[in-house]
Amino acid sequence: MRIVLLGPPGAGKGTQAAQLVSQYGISHLSTGDVFRAAYREGDPLGLEAHEAISRGELVADEIVIGLVKQRLSRTHEGWLLDGFPRTREQAKSLDTFLQKEGEKLDCVLSIVARSETLIGRLQDRRICTDCGRSYHLKFKPPTLPGQCDICGGELYQRSDDRPEAIRKRLEVYEKETEPLVEYYKTKGLLKEIDGEGSMDRVYADIRAAVEEATRGGS
Ligand code: AMP
Repeated sequence: MRIVLLGPPGAGKGTQAAQLVSQYGISHLSTGDVFRAAYREGDPLGLEAHEAISRGELVADEIVIGLVKQRLSRTHEGWLLDGFPRTREQAKSLDTFLQKEGEKLDCVLSIVARSETLIGRLQDRRICTDCGRSYHLKFKPPTLPGQCDICGGELYQRSDDRPEAIRKRLEVYEKETEPLVEYYKTKGLLKEIDGEGSMDRVYADIRAAVEEATRGGS
């Protein structure tokens, strides 16, 4: 199974991706997670990407494409791409990669939500420094302020979840990434998902779309 997850920041890609990969036993590649982990470890990749990420801009295509190709060529079972591709250039490089490997995508899930919903989710989001679990100060607060319920780790706000960067990320999504919806629609791979509902409802829709695509009904 090979799936691409598209959607603006705050659409819930990370949360939905975690459920999908555990249900289907496939690998999860989140380019954003890779950059953040690399930054925490002081790895040159993370340091190079950090400035663009904090401003809410995209990391250069050649860096991201190199990273994804390297990871995917080591992954022989199915995978889910979360946050890649984000530009037409990246989508084209993924096509070329798949063609070379003799593989194809099963479907592209595009999660859609209104800007007010996205901004509300992002500005109050907090992440655990240790296990990466995500909280929301209003909708899913931790039991003890500033502390992860699961591992006790300290919660932090991503530098790109501040208002300036949120605005920029939404702009960048609209300009660079949204055109990929049409790109994959033309290929007959697109499944649009309403991301406004509860996590469970959105996941039920995602599952139905994946089941339909893998039965060959896309
Ligand atoms: P995410 O965790 O998916 O929200 O990604 C966080 C940030 O990492 C993005 O706002 C970009 O700065 C960078 N990033 C992640 N994936 C990509 C990508 N495919 N292309 C360019 N930049 C990316």
